[in-house]
Amino acid sequence: MARFRMYPTAVQEQQMLLHCAHARYVWNLAVEQHSHWQKGRRSAPGFAEQCKQLTEARAASEWLRAGNVDVQQQALKDFAYAKQARFTPGFGEPTWRKKHKHEGFRVIGTDRVPACRDDGTPLLNGKGKQVMSRSVVVRKLNKNWAQVTVPGCGWVRFRLSRRQPPDAKTFRVTCHNGQWHVAFAVIPEPIEAPGNGETVGIDRGVTITAHLSDGRVLNCPQLTAKERARVRKHQRRAARAAKNSPAKQAEYAKVAQLRAREANRRKDWAEKTSTMLASEFDVIRFEKLNIRNMTRTARGTVAEPGRNVRVKAGLNRSILAQGWGMLRSRAEHKAPGRVEDVPAPYTSLRCSDCGWIEKNSRKSQAEFVCVSCGFTCNADLNASINVAAGHAGGTTTTPGRSRVREPQLALR
Ligand SMILES: [Zn+2]
Repeated sequence: MARFRMYPTAVQEQQMLLHCAHARYVWNLAVEQHSHWQKGRRSAPGFAEQCKQLTEARAASEWLRAGNVDVQQQALKDFAYAKQARFTPGFGEPTWRKKHKHEGFRVIGTDRVPACRDDGTPLLNGKGKQVMSRSVVVRKLNKNWAQVTVPGCGWVRFRLSRRQPPDAKTFRVTCHNGQWHVAFAVIPEPIEAPGNGETVGIDRGVTITAHLSDGRVLNCPQLTAKERARVRKHQRRAARAAKNSPAKQAEYAKVAQLRAREANRRKDWAEKTSTMLASEFDVIRFEKLNIRNMTRTARGTVAEPGRNVRVKAGLNRSILAQGWGMLRSRAEHKAPGRVEDVPAPYTSLRCSDCGWIEKNSRKSQAEFVCVSCGFTCNADLNASINVAAGHAGGTTTTPGRSRVREPQLALR
């Protein structure tokens, strides 16, 4: 995915908002159709049948007919893809699209180019004729700007924030918090393994986003203290403003803008970090996500119990889970076949020096002192070394009650 900020003119913006509305309407119709389906009934209509129904719907509705047929058909295609992907972890059944929240539409390229197989040979159909596929026409204006055609809008400018505009078959236009973006559907080129035989383990936590087994510490950027204060200020003002007033909307828009900035920072961090990991290490091992690890810091220690634990834990988790998930999936895209998951149990309790597993070795959130051999280390670093070694843990049998559990507040 290559995403650029788009700058439509006021007229273009109106047209594009209309495209968004049409795409959303068609998508929601498809969702409704499929939600009516029940066991034992004939299957819900597929893409081809929905396209036929779209033609009928366009004939009946003047509003729909005024819109672009390609945009509406692509919304159905998106729905078909979403339906296919619903069993992939992290996706699920396609749901309703809401105004202001899910504004976007897909455009299929207008240029026709000969299709190729993966190895570069031309793709032929059964009769031996060349198969043609679509390509998006992008015109580069200068070093910083390029433009792309959007149906009914002509050329729309976007900020060229990388050297070359990408080759893609389709692109997606989205509007979020008043900002327009164009995203070209391209699969990133896998990054070649450095071939140094090195393996890195990554331990994920709340205070420190990622601890690498070579000792490096990576932090997923969040809003600064000043920006967080601004978020609170606008939330407070919004809460005091009259219901449904423009002032209230404006305050919420400001909050949303700051949140969008944070999301952009996280995305940028995940991209840069995953590129770094893919280019520096042959094998990348992640600790499998563990809710308890995630909330560890919010809960605090015995000496300093956390405040607002429930709220903080939920918030931290949801914010960081996004950064983590993105880092994991982008690393997989850039280093296919070189990313592994290590089961989480005991990675934080196992001594990375002698292999002894005991809960008492974990002195505190940050400190690890092995009960068996006396090895001392930062607890997160110790865990990341275990992850790098690929240790799934195991148990060290001890008489009496089990000592091989994650540290728990009630027990100490
Ligand atoms: Zn030890």
